[in-house]
Amino acid sequence: MKVKRYKKVNKNLRFFINNFGFRQPYQILVDGTFCYCALNNKVNIADNVPRYLQGEIKLITTQCAIIEMENLGPKLHGALLILKQYAVHKCGHEGKPIAGSKCFLNMLGKSNENHYILATQDRDLQEKAREIVGVPLLYLHMKTPVLEKPSEASSKASMDRLSALGASETKALEELKSKQGLEEEKMKKKKKIKGPNPLSCKKKKKKTVTNNPINKKEGQPEQDKKKRKRIKLPKHVRQALLENKPN
Ligand SMILES: [Zn+2]
Repeated sequence: MKVKRYKKVNKNLRFFINNFGFRQPYQILVDGTFCYCALNNKVNIADNVPRYLQGEIKLITTQCAIIEMENLGPKLHGALLILKQYAVHKCGHEGKPIAGSKCFLNMLGKSNENHYILATQDRDLQEKAREIVGVPLLYLHMKTPVLEKPSEASSKASMDRLSALGASETKALEELKSKQGLEEEKMKKKKKIKGPNPLSCKKKKKKTVTNNPINKKEGQPEQDKKKRKRIKLPKHVRQALLENKPN
């Protein structure tokens, strides 16, 4: 199998494993159309499907599907023999068989609780099964099995579930944030009581550089010194200065 196909089936299968709880052995609900197509294309379902899904499988059908094939005549005898090899799950129509496709839709129910993978070539049944949430569709494209990508109904259900999860997570996160916010405010208040923050401290220091009385005192002695120096001018110099002063 090509790597690209391998990745694709992995992705599609993982969707159903993660969102709808599918587990090995995967239960493949097979109808006559799938067996007929497999026989025509010489595909061995029991060999190819598990290899394609890379997991163990259990092939399942119902009494209604078998009876329908029987009623379609000898042309479908080979396909009927294949279908008859599979495990027959009770469908509730024992004694009063209904059309295979209706029986299968009944088996899938509203949400495919039994985690069936539906294996059919019946376009009408495929269409109806896509409306049911959590139904993987398996069909044959010539010789190749294909697990269809999740239907819109299944994708939407998973998105809704995710957004519901997201909403609850967002709520929890907001609660946590508001709690943290309260804690932070408490911390700030505590800090304010303890003392100013380092930034305001720096500013105050800067202010004190210019207005600090200590510095004033330091400045004043300098002025005093100068005055004293003047006072200490030699007498003759002072005299000279005074004499030179214009009147
Ligand atoms: Zn049935």
